[in-house]
Amino acid sequence: MRKVVILGGGYGGLKILLQLLENDLPDDVHITVMDRNPYHSMKTEFYTIAAGTSADKDVRAAFPTDDRVTYVYGEITEIDTENELIHIRESSEPVEYDYLVIGLGCEDNYHGVEGAEEFTESVQTFAKVRHTGLSVGNLGAYGKVTIVGAGLSGIEVASEIRESRADLNIRLLDRGGSVLKAFDPKIQAHVADWFTKNDVEVLHHANVEYVEKDGVCNNGVCYVNDVTIWTAGVRPCYLARALPFEKDKQEKLVVNDFYQVPEATNIYVVGDCASSEHSPSGQLAGQQGEQIADVLLAIFRGEEPRKPKEIKLKGTLGSLGKSDGFGNMMQQPVTGLLPRLAKSGVLWLNKRH
Ligand SMILES: Cc1cc2nc3c(=O)[nH]c(=O)nc-3n(C[C@H](O)[C@H](O)[C@H](O)COP(=O)(O)OP(=O)(O)OC[C@H]3O[C@@H](n4cnc5c(N)ncnc54)[C@H](O)[C@@H]3O)c2cc1C
Repeated sequence: MRKVVILGGGYGGLKILLQLLENDLPDDVHITVMDRNPYHSMKTEFYTIAAGTSADKDVRAAFPTDDRVTYVYGEITEIDTENELIHIRESSEPVEYDYLVIGLGCEDNYHGVEGAEEFTESVQTFAKVRHTGLSVGNLGAYGKVTIVGAGLSGIEVASEIRESRADLNIRLLDRGGSVLKAFDPKIQAHVADWFTKNDVEVLHHANVEYVEKDGVCNNGVCYVNDVTIWTAGVRPCYLARALPFEKDKQEKLVVNDFYQVPEATNIYVVGDCASSEHSPSGQLAGQQGEQIADVLLAIFRGEEPRKPKEIKLKGTLGSLGKSDGFGNMMQQPVTGLLPRLAKSGVLWLNKRH
């Protein structure tokens, strides 16, 4: 039997699994999926868990049941590429692989800010975002929440919390001169206006110096605060960063045209762990996953894999609570209810795999 091991059943890993199962996988190939959670986590919706506006079960989906797949649930602690073994905390029995896919996503990047790791809440794993939701939910009337970082996830977290709790004092720290610096000015203006109308304080040109248990110090001013949520940057999962292979400036693993690690071509990298000209996203991970599955299927059938086509992304959609949003649709910046409905539609499709 040829053993394929997929590390991480997120957007990239799950797409590869589904494509392999749906496309005449040769009989002598067996797939093992390893994840800490016994379900697919819809990370793009984690902001709703932070705000307490979704139930846990609304942002996860069951993995497919299939005789050709074994699931190993546990915390991966080491990828031993020399002996081709994967170790998990819960078992002394490592999992062997002939072909490996690394799709372990990303974690917070604290950029060396003192106290940030210790005293901020996170939206990067299911367990952490549940904790964030609990901290926000348990706040008394007029509690103070600071969100550090005004990219897509920071905006979604801040607006969803506002919609969930009208009483809270919410402050958003933005490193740039306007929120969502990667987006069209029309979208930036719409989002800024939403925050003004909904009483979310936005501080631009932020430079957080340190975080304490009950405060955030920014540009020499310390704000007393109850809950601080970190959305100010990510880096690939530490297990990927620890591998003895070349990485790019963002610490992502460098891959060739076939998503293989050049130093070990039986190892593939997908999503937030893989070096790419595109910004990390669930959409990108899914498209890469489809292409990796095509490469693997060709190799399993003894064929020469075709070079994957250029990735074409459809644009990003963001939410401002449940009835407003923004995004690029058909290469146009769009704001209001339409992009919000489109985002809900994408989630619905994802849930149906
Ligand atoms: C709040 C928020 C909003 C976002 N909104 C959008 C959006 O609107 N559109 C968009 O395209 N992208 C969005 N993203 C980004 C998107 O979620 C990621 O880019 C995407 O999830 C990356 O997919 P992936 O397959 O690389 O990793 P993931 O989907 O993160 O999957 C990684 C998997 O690995 C598992 N794992 C990790 N480490 C271990 C370990 N040590 N042991 C066992 N299992 C492990 C995890 O449980 C997880 O299942 C958002 C992210 C956040 C946080």
